Amino acid sequence: MQEAVIEVSKVSTRFGDHVVHSELDLEVRRSEIFALIGGSGSGKSTLLREMILLQRPDSGSIRVLGADLQELGDDEALALRQRWGVMFQHGGLFGSLTVAENVGLPLREHTGLEDALIDEIGAWKLAMTGLEPEAGAQYPSELSGGMMKRASLARALALDPELLFLDEPTAGLDPDSAGGVDELVRKLRDLFGLTIVMITHDLDLLWQVADRVAVLAEGKVQGVGSMSELSRMDNPSIRQFFDGPRGRAAQEQGKRQADTQADTKSEKPPSKPK
Ligand code: ADP
Ligand code: MG
Repeated sequence: MQEAVIEVSKVSTRFGDHVVHSELDLEVRRSEIFALIGGSGSGKSTLLREMILLQRPDSGSIRVLGADLQELGDDEALALRQRWGVMFQHGGLFGSLTVAENVGLPLREHTGLEDALIDEIGAWKLAMTGLEPEAGAQYPSELSGGMMKRASLARALALDPELLFLDEPTAGLDPDSAGGVDELVRKLRDLFGLTIVMITHDLDLLWQVADRVAVLAEGKVQGVGSMSELSRMDNPSIRQFFDGPRGRAAQEQGKRQADTQADTKSEKPPSKPK
């Protein structure tokens, strides 16, 4: 088994009287595509924010890339932040900067590279995410939803991170743009060995791209596994996801897609009947 890149143990988080996480445990392994699902308000974004040092749990420990987040000094925190990239739900690009300037920003802040080299690396990251070179000169307000997500991803990749966090990477996209994101996420893992943690409701991402999915409910992870493994679990919170009218339709759709995909996936051939 691959080593753990993120280890969350016994994490509890409260806002006033409201308990969001209650001794929650979770492990993400190197080079896997890991998804977090759960109802609205179940604490997915809060957990993600805790993993990237934007928020602290009330108790418990989180280790990321071997470092205990509670014990970090300022310099160590700064160094660690450069080893992960984050794509926020609403893009988080600076509206007053062009796309190219946004993508170059982490390089300008954290490396001593010359401008010409920064421009070149930025252009390469934009290309990696499937944007045309002309998009670099545009401002975020001029971009479509899909382009905005890609530009935000290019910025998250600027410093060649080992770990990538995506909060709802396909939310609000039309099916065509969303489909492109599926391929892109898989490509980033396959080509660069990136570990990817994403929060998503997107059934295509969950069934076709995620290696393991964790279901958050009532402050804890209720189950972890591939979607087809989860779909066979008895836990009531997990059943709720699959057995609601929407869930059932999704499950059927997911199975069909998984079957179609099994024919084309080279790394995981379908098991042969005896
Ligand atoms: P999810 O991403 O799963 O929808 P969140 O992690 O955003 O859920 O939020 C979990 C719960 O914590 C929600 O009930 C939300 O209202 C609450 N919450 C999140 N952030 C704060 C905050 N800064 N102050 C107070 N309550 C918060
Ligand atoms: Mg959220």
